[in-house]
Amino acid sequence: MNYNGIIDKYRDYLPVTKKTPIVTLLEGNTPLIPSQNLSSMLGKGFEVFLKYEGLNPTGSFKDRGMTMAVSKAIEEGTEAVMCASTGNTSASAAAFAARSGIRCIVLIPKGAIALGKLAQALIHGAQVIAIDGNFDDALDLVKQITDQHPITLVNSLNPFRIEGQKTASFEICDMLDDAPDFQCMPVGNAGNITAYWKGYKEYKQKGRSTRLPMMCGFQAAGSAPIVHGRPIKNPETIATAIRIGNPASWQQAVAARDESGGLIDMVTDEEILKAYQILAAKEGVFVEPASAASVAGLIKLHEQGYFTENRKLNTANRNIQIVCILTGHGLKDPDRAIRCVREPITVEAKLETVMEAIGL
Ligand SMILES: *Cc1c(COP(=O)(O)O)cnc(C)c1O
Repeated sequence: MNYNGIIDKYRDYLPVTKKTPIVTLLEGNTPLIPSQNLSSMLGKGFEVFLKYEGLNPTGSFKDRGMTMAVSKAIEEGTEAVMCASTGNTSASAAAFAARSGIRCIVLIPKGAIALGKLAQALIHGAQVIAIDGNFDDALDLVKQITDQHPITLVNSLNPFRIEGQKTASFEICDMLDDAPDFQCMPVGNAGNITAYWKGYKEYKQKGRSTRLPMMCGFQAAGSAPIVHGRPIKNPETIATAIRIGNPASWQQAVAARDESGGLIDMVTDEEILKAYQILAAKEGVFVEPASAASVAGLIKLHEQGYFTENRKLNTANRNIQIVCILTGHGLKDPDRAIRCVREPITVEAKLETVMEAIGL
């Protein structure tokens, strides 16, 4: 059967009707890649999977939410969408707006968005305004503007974003034939952890899965408001997609953590970059730094004995399954990749010199 995007696939679980005009780029249906290395790191009885959301049409999971948010906005007759963005929301909003022929306005924090994402928003024709402030300032402004004008806000405060994004948990359950035992993921504005948890609960309620995963969310150490229990005024991290000091879905993230018996912890930029390089060099999976927070978190929890301790509570005679959500593609932020490695050397175009340089 043809794949026609997440709304078509999971229509029964989404607030759409026959009249909803579907704007899709065939988002979703991303691979769940078994990780040999991380599975053996955890040891016998554990299986680790990577949900590679970077393979969505604009390179991040935001497309799942945006197909819903833009489709519903068009149904309601809106002429423009607007968002604050650390990059990927604007890239996605710009693409779906372009496809449906409506205007897209984006506020970004000046200098704090990865080059690939900025290029996407611009090439799709969005009106991009950089503000002298951070993401939280941008979101405040967007809320004020969309409150007063007939422009649809497409940040994850838009409930249709959450609805669309929850389909990723459906896909995981469909692929594993049940929910995993644990899920590790980055937390920024906290819409995505909210969406996954909602999706897992709905699937179980509908009898499509028998269990619920423990939700393990990870913030960057310099932007960890939920971990510290207070907003962070000047959030800092190289993982720009989660550089957020006052998450919009804070309460929902805490609820996901507590209801699932999981946790929200933080990982340092160093740990993030280490996981980023492990994913690229050992798994062949290139992600942007924020996405590596999930694997940095997995490694941190493993070193603390978290999974084995929780495993003991589980009497079932089967492998414990852990899914790490890789939220965005590595090509979004090529500058970061180049800075992590040695740049290529240049030699004369001669056989001997090239052979010498290769070490042959
Ligand atoms: C948006 C984004 C996040 C954070 O998701 P939230 O829903 O804001 O918590 C993480 N990684 C990437 C690549 C993103 O684009």
